[in-house]
Amino acid sequence: MMSRRHLHETDKIGPCVIQLQQMRPRVRAHGRNNMSSKKILIVEDERPIREMIAFGLKRAGFEVREAEDSRTARAALADRRPDLILIDWMLPDTSGLELTRSLKRERDTRDLPVIMLTARAEEGDKVAGLDGGADDYMTKPFSPRELVARVNAVLRRSGGPDENERVQFDDLSLDRAGHRVMVGERTVPLGPTEYRLLEFFMTHPERVYSREQLLDRVWGGNVYVEERTIDVHVRRLRKALEDFRYDRLVQTVRGAGYRFSARAEG
Ligand code: CA
Repeated sequence: MMSRRHLHETDKIGPCVIQLQQMRPRVRAHGRNNMSSKKILIVEDERPIREMIAFGLKRAGFEVREAEDSRTARAALADRRPDLILIDWMLPDTSGLELTRSLKRERDTRDLPVIMLTARAEEGDKVAGLDGGADDYMTKPFSPRELVARVNAVLRRSGGPDENERVQFDDLSLDRAGHRVMVGERTVPLGPTEYRLLEFFMTHPERVYSREQLLDRVWGGNVYVEERTIDVHVRRLRKALEDFRYDRLVQTVRGAGYRFSARAEG
């Protein structure tokens, strides 16, 4: 990881001078344990720009990771999935456009929202960026405020249709808008963590997830939770589903993790 230097009055993202006073980070009420803070990966080779973007996003309450090229970005993605990725057009190895294209081609990263950053202002590049699958496009210089507004807009758009979705599995139905799980007319009583766990399982069925992956995807990567805590919540979830005879859907895969599946265990 890089060292943190102090910010100076002259620090900029492009020619936009950021007032030191404005950039002071706020301490968040729930700090690092806030499950809802969105994760952003910044892929930008120019360190001063990357650091300023990171600073602005952290101040707005985002969790930030930084990568200096496509290769590092790939490693960061494999390690932990962000909610959105900012990709600079000009990178030293694979170009930002190439990286965006390949992310949009792959099943695991297809839905990951991408905002492209570039110093070029030409209309042609903008079109190429959007054609390559970018969800939005920002031309440097931009203010941290504008960036945060765009990030929020893209996150809203990308989360939009999903959040109102109803996920159905047999008679088991999860209403994402109402945060409720029903079997027919009966409500399945679930705590917030069991709800999130079931939501994740129901939207990612028939695939084994390790405890570590579940921690990352359901709890959020940097929350201090021990892996065996997951077992506790899985047990509670099964208990809640037991009355409805759906506990069998949450399956333990020995030595690997858990799987949500309609098929018989094994
Ligand atoms: Ca660059």
